Amino acid sequence: DEEGVDPVALSLPSSSKPHDDNTWGDTSSYARNKKIQSFFKLPNGEWELVKILSYSGSESLISLSEGKALKVKNDCLVQSNPVILDGVDDLMQLSFLNEPAVLYNLQYRYNQDMIYTKAGPVLVAINPFKKVPLYGDDYIEGYRRKSIESPHVYAITDTAMGEMVRGSFCPLLYGESGAGKTETAKIAMQYLAALGGGGGIEYEILKTNPVLEAFGNAKTSRNNNSSRFVSFLSLNLVVQSVRVFTYWKHQSRVVQCAEGERSYHVFYQLCAGADHDLREKLNLRNAGEYKYLRQSSCFSISGVDDTEQFGILTEALDVVHITKEDQESVFAMLAAVLWLGNILFTVIDNENHAEVVEDESLTTVAKLLGCSSDQLNRALSTRKMRVGNDTIVQKLTVSQASDSRDALAKSIYACLFDWLVEQINKSLSAGKRRTGRSISILDIYGFESFDRNSFEQFCINYANERLQHHFNRHMFKLEQEEYIQDGIDWARVDFEDNQDCLNLFEKKPLGLLSLLDEESTFPNANDMTFANKLKEHLHSKSCFHGGRGKDFTVNHYAGEVSYDTTGFLEKNRDLLHLESIELLSECSCSLPQIFATSMLTQSEKPVTGPLFKAGGAESQKLSVATKFKGQLFQLMQRLENTTPHFIRCIKPNSLQSPGVYEQGLVLQQLRCCGVLEVVRISRSGFPTKMSHQKFARRYGFLLLESVASQDPLSVSVAILHQFNILPEMYQVGYTKLFFRTGQIGLLENTRNRTL
Ligand code: ADP
Ligand code: MG
Repeated sequence: DEEGVDPVALSLPSSSKPHDDNTWGDTSSYARNKKIQSFFKLPNGEWELVKILSYSGSESLISLSEGKALKVKNDCLVQSNPVILDGVDDLMQLSFLNEPAVLYNLQYRYNQDMIYTKAGPVLVAINPFKKVPLYGDDYIEGYRRKSIESPHVYAITDTAMGEMVRGSFCPLLYGESGAGKTETAKIAMQYLAALGGGGGIEYEILKTNPVLEAFGNAKTSRNNNSSRFVSFLSLNLVVQSVRVFTYWKHQSRVVQCAEGERSYHVFYQLCAGADHDLREKLNLRNAGEYKYLRQSSCFSISGVDDTEQFGILTEALDVVHITKEDQESVFAMLAAVLWLGNILFTVIDNENHAEVVEDESLTTVAKLLGCSSDQLNRALSTRKMRVGNDTIVQKLTVSQASDSRDALAKSIYACLFDWLVEQINKSLSAGKRRTGRSISILDIYGFESFDRNSFEQFCINYANERLQHHFNRHMFKLEQEEYIQDGIDWARVDFEDNQDCLNLFEKKPLGLLSLLDEESTFPNANDMTFANKLKEHLHSKSCFHGGRGKDFTVNHYAGEVSYDTTGFLEKNRDLLHLESIELLSECSCSLPQIFATSMLTQSEKPVTGPLFKAGGAESQKLSVATKFKGQLFQLMQRLENTTPHFIRCIKPNSLQSPGVYEQGLVLQQLRCCGVLEVVRISRSGFPTKMSHQKFARRYGFLLLESVASQDPLSVSVAILHQFNILPEMYQVGYTKLFFRTGQIGLLENTRNRTL
């Protein structure tokens, strides 16, 4: 420090309360160190590193960056770390692990293009939004020889390769869309390709991305390219094969889309990019002429050319071996979905029964699906029921018919997606045996909290709650192993987890999911009765608050989220009538396999099943939430069988430009992706660890009285006693000393004053 301030003296003694970093503690030692820095929260919520000019009682005089001095209450200040700790490459090395310290450290590194930082076992990657000189052969070689040690995707991938001998490995990529997950996955792939000698499969894998993104990503209010599904890519380097698993596609976006958002990219790409022939064949119009797309006035994304994207998509489809013929059929199904949305119903009697209006929409859909207009009309406007031994045909009302139309559109889209993924898997693992050893990459959508949150967010956030639980348990286990190995008193570490919130979702019969399913089976239930039911049964739960009207609030690990129950029941029921299933299995469109394979998984039961039961097909169908939970548990099972490595991608600004670091945005993501949770877990334990030898060497000279035995352990214990370190602030292990957060700062303080 150029001003001659003892850098370590900057860390102030903390109080005896281990979890409280904000406390100033012993003021006498404080007063001795006048030129102290600290974090101060500005009115705009950002933290600034300020100098403390003077100190009295409960107030301090601070100097802000623009030279202004300001008198503030001490409880507005948060301890900063000694300057020697600036830009440490593992956050755990920070003596004071508070939010501003974490933010400051990441920013310090980001400003120097050090975009990777460890948070204990987690790798934090901040999107640079520009080329950074961290990649390429020299770096790959460096990490391979282990001559470079700074945190990197290469390093984590290298560890993974080592572990592949013992079991499968899984980098869990996590972060908002646009945070850099896909790029990071590609960088990991690059490293693997270099190690594997490059069998060519990498190129094909990378080309699955434009396909999956076109069909699975959409513009949301927060992100222009938000993944609305989860992908789990399993790469087998030995036999050079790939399998992609996809989970939780959000089908409702196909028929419903909020203002400022878009439906799936592929619809706009098709409308913009199809050539004349294809347009003729599919009777294709501009995006603005389709009702499903017209629900939002947003049709384009700035900087994205849908026509060009369509070219990229078809090229990628070629690479993953989808034939031109099949591609055309895929586009025909997309056109069918769009035209379905334009189908209208008229009332045909005084009971409000519906019939399809015979117009261009009806004939186009029928033609594209390969059925007659009559068949389509029947499928959309009637329902078969079994009563006793008879089958009766019941006419649907206009609103029921509209629901069945939307359900059909959603399931065509879902089947199409499944079929595509299946084709990709077939072509990328053609003729190759599957063996257990593989490297998997999980690209998942992160926690979401908007102004209005609906069923989509409800599912996403529930999944994230589960994943967080897995994450916590894993962290907890790692810490526990180290403590147990070193023989320290485990009982004194108190880790919280998010079990309460999980229970709120999963408890039967009185949990959010069960209550939702129960209410979904009542024909007369509506969003309001559902909201009231939740409030009635869950009001006593600590993670639940009933809100006004149709709202309710859940206290997630990443913060409170208020959900609006509007549309919950409808989205959860996801009715697909038997008539529609029959229609799809009969129609002669060129991709009958699409429906043949997927319908069974859609309804979870053989298609013939529901016919023999009164109440129609939907009564045996699993609800969306239940299916979602089933898939989530499947995924968790997969994860349990892998050694997880967590990569948390962070978007430093919403402008997508380099060099801009928005503290608030970063902080929110650090919270949501569990980095602060790691910090918290670590703080509630004994995060600072130092071997007896190192400790004795570093602080031994401070001893005032000589110690009888000179072994490192005795010296260490003598030091601890001399400095009156409170017993609850440390533990002595077999090989190491374990300290609560902030304790080493204290000793460093003294050491530097003495030196
Ligand atoms: P996600 O998959 O999380 O939605 P992407 O991986 O597509 O996000 O990243 C969005 C954009 O950010 C990329 O198109 C690229 O421009 C930029 N980006 C992300 N990571 C990096 C990186 N490591 N280096 C340079 N640019 C990056
Ligand atoms: Mg992506």
